Amino acid sequence: MTPEFSERRNTDESLRTSEETFRLIFDRHPHSMWVYDRETFQFLEVNNAAVTHYGYSRDEFLAMRITDIRPEEDVSRVRDGAKTMTDELRRSGNWRHRIRDGTIIDVEISSHTLEFCGRPAALVLVQDITDRIRADAALRESELRFRSVAQSATDSIVAANGAGEIIFWNKGAEATFGYAESDVMGTSLSRLMPERYRPFHERGLKHVRATGESRILGHPVELSGLRKDGREFPLELCLAAWETRNGTFFSGIMRDITERSQAAEALEHRAFYDPLTDLPNRTLLRDRLRQAILGAQRGNSLVALLLMDVDRFKEVNDTFGHHFGDMLLQQLGPRIQGCLREADTVARLGGDEFAMLLTGVDATRASQVATKILSSLERPFCLEGQLFSVEGSIGIACFPHQGEDGETLLQHADVAMYVAKRGGSGYAIYAPEHDEYSPKRLALIGDLRHGIEHGQLLLHYQPKLSLKTESVEGVEALVRWRHPEYGLIPPEQFIPLAEHTGLIRPLSLWVLREALRQGQVWHEEGLALHVAVNLSARNLHDVELIQTVSEILETWEVSPEWLQIELTESGIMTDLFRSVESLQRLQDLGVRISIDDFGTGYSSLAYLKRLPIDEIKIDRSFVKEVACDENDRHIVRATIGLGHDLGLRTVAEGVEDRIACDLVRSMGCDSAQGYYVSRPLPAVACTQWLREHQVASSTEHRRLG
Ligand code: C2E
Ligand code: CA
Ligand code: CA
Repeated sequence: MTPEFSERRNTDESLRTSEETFRLIFDRHPHSMWVYDRETFQFLEVNNAAVTHYGYSRDEFLAMRITDIRPEEDVSRVRDGAKTMTDELRRSGNWRHRIRDGTIIDVEISSHTLEFCGRPAALVLVQDITDRIRADAALRESELRFRSVAQSATDSIVAANGAGEIIFWNKGAEATFGYAESDVMGTSLSRLMPERYRPFHERGLKHVRATGESRILGHPVELSGLRKDGREFPLELCLAAWETRNGTFFSGIMRDITERSQAAEALEHRAFYDPLTDLPNRTLLRDRLRQAILGAQRGNSLVALLLMDVDRFKEVNDTFGHHFGDMLLQQLGPRIQGCLREADTVARLGGDEFAMLLTGVDATRASQVATKILSSLERPFCLEGQLFSVEGSIGIACFPHQGEDGETLLQHADVAMYVAKRGGSGYAIYAPEHDEYSPKRLALIGDLRHGIEHGQLLLHYQPKLSLKTESVEGVEALVRWRHPEYGLIPPEQFIPLAEHTGLIRPLSLWVLREALRQGQVWHEEGLALHVAVNLSARNLHDVELIQTVSEILETWEVSPEWLQIELTESGIMTDLFRSVESLQRLQDLGVRISIDDFGTGYSSLAYLKRLPIDEIKIDRSFVKEVACDENDRHIVRATIGLGHDLGLRTVAEGVEDRIACDLVRSMGCDSAQGYYVSRPLPAVACTQWLREHQVASSTEHRRLG
């Protein structure tokens, strides 16, 4: 072998090897490749990938032109393209091809001109991009769909990037917040919320960026939104976040819930307020009562609950119709409210029943409020030009004395209201004995008012003997009730009822008038007696007492010093401050004051010095045993001594026999009263008794102290 030959052979061989290599690359290449004649468009060569991908065999390909795999409408473009293709030119572009089964595919091709077997040809590399194009189209479509949905939604839909800058803003947001899309794109989300929320918002964003977590992601939350015009409104926000290569993004769907919050408020209002009168209902009252009791427990103060029933409401309803009844109820609320302080609650419990809740108020003050409310009802109501007046009955229960929880107070106030209604007394303060009321007893209260007004009360008088002069210095008036059915009822059976129901006022008034009238009669007959009248603590705290007493004294032309007023020690002590004031005014009037049942109360003797009083009546429980009980003897002796030290007269009550009488006299006691002297007697019998006994002449009586 010559060297040239072997060189040529080597060259031939390496050429062949290289050609084979390229052939191999061409055939094995995963993308379709072919070579075509640039003049005839005839396929000159195709690779395996093209055969597989397009579905034509190699022979079929070589019998076709490149235009055969184009959809009709693209053919002219192919021709033009090929014509302009010059040597050395390299081209790429997107085309559509039709494969054997007729399917159109999208391809990206790059072609290179070359000479193939002496012909101007082009090598084409094809990449099927059908899936990518479809995905892009789907994405574009979905984006369009999203935009059209998002834009047409009435809710605000806003998207923001991780920095909180707005990147999407729909028509709903425009309407809700008042900003146009161009106003807000690229600006901070924080402008959509009131100033005070902005720091939280910033912190929240930071947190989500750092951790990808947010408490409000995915849950609807209620916030306040801020409109362009500065108005705040309640909104519901549902926040979503997503991650991309470019960071975190947020989208929020926001809804103006002004209407919904208003509806919720209205519902809440309905749950707690009476629709007719717009006053708190029973539910709200219970709640306020509970709060008031908690407050009172903390502050060691009082709560008073008043329940009122309108007495003639049914009459109005029945006679004039529900329409009138409703109007009346509507007018009642403000009328009652006018009698209370701002902070007090008036509630309508249903029907014609109202409740008043007063804080920091005791039973006495509550009774005054009750009186005020009842008298406010006497002013006529004007309903469509007609005038109506109504009456009410009020039951009072106070925390803690008449109930330590709301339910008990409600129950007890209700009982007291029943008592007040039956007794016709206007109001009643709950007392445990109310619970035990037999219908007979309740009827008794009902009868009492009637009895007071219809002359069923009478007075018995018990003489008081001076142990110094052995003469009768006065009498104590003791009330009795002659009941048409039950006969003579002792005071102990109806005075407590009168005290609880407010009837004590007309009762005491009657006693005062009657006792002074009788006193006047005795004076005219030459019997110089002073008359003692028992009053209740409730009378003492009656603001009109002083006025009433002086009027009665004037009416009967009785000198004030002939009137003595007896008050129990415990009665005075219930409200010492006010008692002192009232007692002082009575004393200033010239009336004499006695402390009744002395020794049974819990008052400290120290107080005695400060009380404007003239006389101490030592309770009969001590006097009764004074002969046999050493202890009682000590008490009686000490009380007499103390009284004298303070310049007070002393009277021994319940002196039943001579031994007791002598004993108290020996102890220095000024007067004695009791069965030993005389039983309480009706006026006529008492007059007779007085005539038979020595009565001091009027000149011997001087006011002491
Ligand atoms: P009091 O003021 O302590 O009246 C004396 C009571 O003791 C009277 O009972 C009288 O009958 C009774 N008594 C008198 N001497 C004796 C005695 O020697 N032994 C015994 N065991 N008892 C004697 P009465 O009349 O039943 O009155 C009871 C209470 O009723 C009175 O006690 C007084 O607190 C009250 N009361 C009577 N009348 C009135 C009134 O007009 N207004 C008020 N607020 N209370 C009255
Ligand atoms: Ca008395
Ligand atoms: Ca007494």
